[in-house]
Amino acid sequence: MSKILIIEDEESIAELEKDYLELSGFEVEIANRGDTGLLKALKENFDLIILDLMLPEVDGFEICRMVREEKNIPIIMVSAKKEDIDKIRGLGLGADDYMTKPFSPSELVARVKAHMERYNRLVGTNVVKNNIVEIRGIKIDKTARRVWVNGEEKTFTTKEYDLLTFLAENPNRVFKKEELFREIWDMESVGDIATVTVHIKKIREKIEFDTAKPQYIETIWGVGYRFKV
Ligand code: CA
Repeated sequence: MSKILIIEDEESIAELEKDYLELSGFEVEIANRGDTGLLKALKENFDLIILDLMLPEVDGFEICRMVREEKNIPIIMVSAKKEDIDKIRGLGLGADDYMTKPFSPSELVARVKAHMERYNRLVGTNVVKNNIVEIRGIKIDKTARRVWVNGEEKTFTTKEYDLLTFLAENPNRVFKKEELFREIWDMESVGDIATVTVHIKKIREKIEFDTAKPQYIETIWGVGYRFKV
């Protein structure tokens, strides 16, 4: 059974959400404070988190950021203020969805189901649909060779695009630099595996919120790279 964590300090809202989600067959736990919620989110295994923004002790921004460093599970952020939602989007913290309070519980259930299905699909290898590769905030249109990061279009050189697309289409697999070089550059190319490193760096500058802490392309030391789902 899928387990959901609700981090929400308004108890009546949390209980209402819990009731609806349980009726839909989910197992639900509630944390009423930011610090306890964060701890639960990191230590226990949940399949999805519903995260309120304004919370005692640790706020939703921080929780989202810290959970994202460790986990890829869907995070739905909720706030009473529309402006806050815009702000969270702008920060690129890696939340999968945003809802403004008050919302109907059935709307929440519908979104939870959609994210859960999407996530379960992604955890498999089926990330490509209609020639569109979509992983969290990144969308690649393979027909048009265009890329969007959190809704904003970014431009890539041919090789950067090829490399990003190859990694995104093969998520959670670790590739050696040599393998990537062979895959993306043809045999006659002048260059070596350092070329791969340089291109990864350039791609990260365009897709990552913080290049020091990559959320998408992860470095596996001594081995190579992996696109995290
Ligand atoms: Ca709150």
